[in-house]
Amino acid sequence: MIDFTIPEKVKQQTQMAEMVATTIMRPTARKYDENEHDRPVEFIKFMWPVMADRQKSTLEKARRKAEQADTDEPENGNKKENIANLSMLFLIEQLAWGDVAQYLSLPSAGLGGFAIEAVATLDQKERFLSRYADSKAKPAWGAMAMTEPGAGSDTAAICTTATLDTETNEWVLNGEKIFCTSGKLSLDESNGLVVVWATIDRSAGRAGMKPFVVEAGTPGVKVTKQEHKHGIRASDTVAIVFENARIPYDNILGSPEVRDPEAAGTKGFKGAMKTFDLSRPVVAASAVGVARGALEVTKEKLADAGITIRYDAAPHELTAIQRDVIEMEGLLKASWLLTLRAGSMLDQGESNALESSMCKAKAGQASTQICQKCVEILGPMGYSREWLVEKLMRDSKIADLYEGTHEINLLIVARRILGYSSAELR
Ligand SMILES: Cc1cc2nc3c(=O)[nH]c(=O)nc-3n(C[C@H](O)[C@H](O)[C@H](O)COP(=O)(O)OP(=O)(O)OC[C@H]3O[C@@H](n4cnc5c(N)ncnc54)[C@H](O)[C@@H]3O)c2cc1C
Repeated sequence: MIDFTIPEKVKQQTQMAEMVATTIMRPTARKYDENEHDRPVEFIKFMWPVMADRQKSTLEKARRKAEQADTDEPENGNKKENIANLSMLFLIEQLAWGDVAQYLSLPSAGLGGFAIEAVATLDQKERFLSRYADSKAKPAWGAMAMTEPGAGSDTAAICTTATLDTETNEWVLNGEKIFCTSGKLSLDESNGLVVVWATIDRSAGRAGMKPFVVEAGTPGVKVTKQEHKHGIRASDTVAIVFENARIPYDNILGSPEVRDPEAAGTKGFKGAMKTFDLSRPVVAASAVGVARGALEVTKEKLADAGITIRYDAAPHELTAIQRDVIEMEGLLKASWLLTLRAGSMLDQGESNALESSMCKAKAGQASTQICQKCVEILGPMGYSREWLVEKLMRDSKIADLYEGTHEINLLIVARRILGYSSAELR
């Protein structure tokens, strides 16, 4: 049976997130949009202990899982229900409703954390993620750098190399990454890190791609450009250059084997795909939050103008605007339910590779369409900077671009449904 009840713990967390979104994020959303590269300090200060607690319990869960695997103990009957991913999606949807641009500066391991969760050993998780679990310490950020000037959707084309120096037992990284979210926050702060995808053997194609943890302060790592953007302007997006950047041997996540199909298959390129399985529902949740914000403002303004939505009227009795609003609400609900399904599958330990791309493709497009329609319905004031809807329209577009563009996610969905490989359907 499908249970649509929202757990009590999630309800409480949503109330907290609503308070942050309403009292901290919304009132400062325009300020951080105008002052593009300022840090949303109020939001960061409030959210750090919340995120540190979440990270702490994720680490504890990973330890318990490893202990259980060691002792080969069967799972006992009163095992606690796992809703970690679901509750994260509710949190993010609400924060994105507040201001998706500030939400992207959430102090946490971020996308880098997803890569570590997806691929690392328990020892590496302890080493790299504990810093995000200490609410008394300084806030810390993490990022993931995959995209390069010549490699976006085609991730197999990455040129950044990692070469093993057998004398010092260090990896030496060389190359350039672009459009890295929170790259500056992660590298400016002494306790941040970036997970960098590099190839250890270009002739091996995707099997040669491996994730490496690069800590802030590593010599040879330089932020070379900070982007000026159309939307999500409070979020830092940077280019990073690696020039003979040396990192310890153990900072490779997963196996360094390339030719061994077992190791390459699970820890090479598939590690990137596993990372996206975790991160795409999160992007979808943020897209839903943005669109809900735009739709709510639009309905309020319509109500102020005396236009109410007649849910009980027959379709032929509706005005064009009433029909538009009802259609947008349907789109939003469908996107949210798909997103929750993808998150809930993760919590059940099921593969969600199809569903994560599905919800990201659906929610990204729905959010873009809804926000544009809201601007259209509200007319000149929808376009004015006096109201937030024009900003929401600009902010919404990113969900169609990062973590795999809309087209790439549709391609993944088609491959999975039709049973084609990436070579057969490209
Ligand atoms: C604000 C922002 C933040 C970002 N953050 C990160 C980050 O933190 N880490 C990171 O690694 N990257 C990040 N990116 C990069 C983002 O993931 C890439 O921009 C994205 O993967 C697309 O790559 P590309 O820009 O090279 O476009 P291309 O791959 O050149 O694509 C251009 C267009 O062609 C389409 N296209 C490409 N291939 C196909 C195909 N086979 N079939 C149909 N259509 C296709 C695409 O959908 C797109 O519309 C970020 C980007 C932005 C804008």
